[in-house]
Amino acid sequence: MKDWDLVIVGGGPAGLSAGIYGARARLRTLIVEKLACGGQAATTHRTGDYPGFARGITGPELMEQMEKQAQSLGVQVHYAEAKDLRSESSGHVLLTDGEEIKGKALIIATGTTPNALGVPGEDEFRGRGVSYCATCDGAFFRDKDVVVVGGGNSAAEGALFMTRFARKVYVVHRRDRLRATKILQEHLAAHSKIELLWNKVVKEIQGGAFVERILLADTKGGPDLAIDASGVFVYIGNSPNSGWLRSHLELDERGYIITDERMQTSLPGVFAAGDVRRTPLRQVVTAVADGAVAAVEADSFLGGIV
Ligand code: NAP
Repeated sequence: MKDWDLVIVGGGPAGLSAGIYGARARLRTLIVEKLACGGQAATTHRTGDYPGFARGITGPELMEQMEKQAQSLGVQVHYAEAKDLRSESSGHVLLTDGEEIKGKALIIATGTTPNALGVPGEDEFRGRGVSYCATCDGAFFRDKDVVVVGGGNSAAEGALFMTRFARKVYVVHRRDRLRATKILQEHLAAHSKIELLWNKVVKEIQGGAFVERILLADTKGGPDLAIDASGVFVYIGNSPNSGWLRSHLELDERGYIITDERMQTSLPGVFAAGDVRRTPLRQVVTAVADGAVAAVEADSFLGGIV
């Protein structure tokens, strides 16, 4: 694969935005994407907080538009998984399965992956009732009872989405207060299909061919509770996709890439953008802003080289 001015790893909102800004700066820009562009944002059923869409927009629609915009500007997308990095005097070489891709500058926008519960039954019933994406799998649970685990924005949005299909949606949270934005909390509290189960954690997922029962432990020492349900949607946070960079870039204690305000990492010419970097807010709007800053800074960095 030929050499590029700018190689972006990850085709979510941060990577696509970086691509748009990179291409507009007339950098020969490549996005290296593992699976499909759009990232986790493409699995959000409705983005109600992204400015410019008064009636909201679905995650897939928003991301499809970003991808089209990037490609219309000449950004190329190459499907491969980045495994390692090698730095040379004239740039950085990305190692994927069986090939090397060279960029004079690099932007890491690999995002995060949903955390697993780590309880008995989770792996066994993955794809048979255990899911990490309501938008992807929700329609399989029409008129069924389901459990959504977590108290953040993803859990709240997942639970609200599941009310379209499910008969009843239990939200299981380990504390007595949600972390989700107030407006989402209000929507949860007002929905007749949703029941909040406070101070509970999943102890075990049980069933036959598919999930049938969720065993909950009480974090305040109360008795266990068994919920008959066909699905469990797990939204207990995420971990950064940065393990492959551990020996190259400075990461924080949780594995997020440390950057300065210009998105510069500890390695000159390598920038990071979006959820994978240490940042106080992880939203589509912050990811696209990061991507723009990273690409503009990469362009300045390359000023003396390209
Ligand atoms: P999150 O904000 O980290 O929330 C994770 C939730 O899971 C927390 O309520 C946490 O409980 C709970 N939890 C963590 N570990 C657990 C465990 N082992 N067992 C049980 N519960 C556990 O994650 P998120 O909801 O996926 O959101 C990730 C980021 O994306 C956030 O920055 C969020 O704001 C953003 N996001 C934004 C939107 C939006 O604004 N539209 C939508 C989705 C995501 P505690 O509260 O007790 O810690």
